[in-house]
Amino acid sequence: MITYEEAQEIVSRYNLYIDTETIPFTDSLGRVLAADIKSDMDMPPFDKTAVDGYACRKVDLDKELVINEVIPAGVVAAMNVNPGQCAKIMTGAAIPDGADWVFMVEDAVEKSGKVRFTGTVKKDNISKKAEDIVTGDVVLKKGRVIRPQDIAVMATVGATEVEVSKKVKVGVISTGSELAEPHLKPEKGQIRNSNAYQLIAQVIRSGADAIYYGIALDTEEDTMDKISRALNECNIVLLTGGVSMGDFDFVPKVLKEAGVKIIFDRVAVQPGKPTTFCVYDKGFVFGLPGNPVSSFVQFELFVRPFIHRSMKSDWTPDIISVPLASDYTRKRAERMAWVPVIKNERSEAQPVDYHGSAHINALPDAWGLMSIGLGVKELKKGEIVDVRQI
Ligand code: AMP
Ligand code: MG
Repeated sequence: MITYEEAQEIVSRYNLYIDTETIPFTDSLGRVLAADIKSDMDMPPFDKTAVDGYACRKVDLDKELVINEVIPAGVVAAMNVNPGQCAKIMTGAAIPDGADWVFMVEDAVEKSGKVRFTGTVKKDNISKKAEDIVTGDVVLKKGRVIRPQDIAVMATVGATEVEVSKKVKVGVISTGSELAEPHLKPEKGQIRNSNAYQLIAQVIRSGADAIYYGIALDTEEDTMDKISRALNECNIVLLTGGVSMGDFDFVPKVLKEAGVKIIFDRVAVQPGKPTTFCVYDKGFVFGLPGNPVSSFVQFELFVRPFIHRSMKSDWTPDIISVPLASDYTRKRAERMAWVPVIKNERSEAQPVDYHGSAHINALPDAWGLMSIGLGVKELKKGEIVDVRQI
């Protein structure tokens, strides 16, 4: 059995080629930017006031000033500000010629067309032309996963069409004759299919498109039918279940018959030992364990980073080092482990009540997965542990 690090190294040798496309910036949330975006203008484009107030000359701050005009945002001043004068000005409006200072409405007493500054002289309240962005500056670098604040930057610089990576197409197949779809009440011996829907959500969160092929019954025919359709239509195919050592775990056999090459089929990780990685002419197959926690964890460890890398995203998992809240021991240590933890009020990692890889409701409250190295049987309270955010 290979180690987690060996498995990661093997997967890192394989690449999926994904093309780019140009889309309206308003549709780009969650997509991976494929070309740098440069600004077509300075920001601010002109010296502007950051407050509602009075624009004047700094040397005149101790005088009573005549108000020339009122300048709303978006309106260009009609007059210069000369000695002894000022213009009443609204936030965002351009500073009139002659003025080099704005004092706030809150620091002023206005009466009969005149105003006096009553505050203490601190700052000019002027946002200078190009202090945020200079024309030609790269404002967004390729590789980023686009967030709402990036879309504001695109709008600011007029980048209304943006180049992004196409979405990876990920097929999802559940295997197991015991599975019932969620809208059905399971009969005796059945359980609901949770993995497919969890995986679809994980795929979408990774920025890819999920295509669902349903439940493959534990027969070679049905498994082959669903796998061959998915291989044809997708870049990555995810299977859950059917990769253990059971009498009806047909997945490896069917994959081989479908022309898929299995690169590894066991990894020294817990949960998720039977994790399987395969290549075929058009893409890749990840055979994930049937137990829902294992399936979730193995997707996070192997598939999510692979999807991001395929789309040339600069995403990396968020791993935070924090102290452990209480002693932790395990009986066996021949696999690297990931244990769901919450963050307690002292920001320490506290393992959740967790009964093993079928314990699906251990995950929703978890803050992250604490990793425990190969060969490590015990960790002491206060020891620093790495928690991977989920
Ligand atoms: P398997 O790897 O097929 O032997 O499955 C291991 C365990 O995971 C069994 O208890 C299955 O019933 C369960 N399991 C498999 N697939 C799913 C699924 N899609 N949703 C929920 N549990 C599953
Ligand atoms: Mg099964």
